[in-house]
Amino acid sequence: MKKHNFSAGPCILPESVLQKASEAVVNFNNDDLSLIEISHRSQPFVDVIEKARALALEHLNLQDKGYTALFLQGGASSQFLMTAYNFLDKKAAYLNTGTWSSKAIKEAKLFGELVEVASSEDKNFTYIPKDYTIPSDVDYFHCTSNNTIYGTQMKSFPETDVPVICDMSSDIFSRQLDFSKFDLIYAGAQKNMGPAGTTLVVIKDEFLDKICREVPSMLNYKTHTSKDSMFNTPPVFPVYVSMLTLEWLKDLGGIDFIEGVNQKKADLLYAEIDRNPLFKGIVNPEDRSIMNATFEIENSELKNRFDEMWKEARINGLAGHRSVGGYRASMYNALPLYSVQALVDVMKELERKA
Ligand SMILES: *Cc1c(COP(=O)(O)O)cnc(C)c1O
Repeated sequence: MKKHNFSAGPCILPESVLQKASEAVVNFNNDDLSLIEISHRSQPFVDVIEKARALALEHLNLQDKGYTALFLQGGASSQFLMTAYNFLDKKAAYLNTGTWSSKAIKEAKLFGELVEVASSEDKNFTYIPKDYTIPSDVDYFHCTSNNTIYGTQMKSFPETDVPVICDMSSDIFSRQLDFSKFDLIYAGAQKNMGPAGTTLVVIKDEFLDKICREVPSMLNYKTHTSKDSMFNTPPVFPVYVSMLTLEWLKDLGGIDFIEGVNQKKADLLYAEIDRNPLFKGIVNPEDRSIMNATFEIENSELKNRFDEMWKEARINGLAGHRSVGGYRASMYNALPLYSVQALVDVMKELERKA
């Protein structure tokens, strides 16, 4: 039986997706060829990427609303620079909620003036700043919807007239939002969608008119939108697995359904963190992420015993990020509720034995 996989990324994918993906590597569509050895311009693969792009927009309720979905390479980290390269003409506003936002800020500074509208660095990013204003004369506002490392999540987004760019790497397709409020959304596949190697970019077509300088072809969004995400060889395997995950999600009932499951999982774990006297949460309760829950053990002498116990219970990937310490349970879409129950059972057992 498979382990309970709480890995923060690359992360758990649905069993049925892994099964189909492994079959396609050997024999794709019963055509006696592998998915990864056929031309990316062949009809079977064109069908795959077209389906993946369409499903991404459908899940976000953005189909026929003037948006284009792309599957690019270079990870979400390349989007830090690509967004600024294309759209930062003079000045941009950034909300700093953690390591990933900070990295985006660092790249953007290469292209123009930055206004950090707010930062939670003063408390090691354990909360989401709320009272800040976005200047009206900036080219765009950039934020990170879910802070994978710290376990905080934006529950609402500021109302603003400037274009909004959002790094949704670790909570895309996990909860319902009005996605039409965003001009550009990006997400590395390996948190909630597929294997590492592709990054979903969803861009409002009108926003493409705001590309502000001459950008080399590979880094120019227009290159990719004009070539239907096939300017060069796309990462065929990650795109295929992403398509399978998006199909899996659709069959389950889409974001509406999975959001309910995700909330149940998060409620179950946070309730135990709050109830069990041996544990405590790390971040501001109202900003807790439903994807990544961070917590600590109160008595460090119990740490080794707890670590042995959860490993014994076939739990994987619970160690906190090195910059935060403690524990981090990542509960992405494909993690079943019974895996969270298995973790909660171990926490209760530690309390009984302590
Ligand atoms: C993991 C992560 C990234 C970095 O993604 P790469 O694909 O490794 O470049 C960026 N932003 C967030 C929110 C992440 O969770």
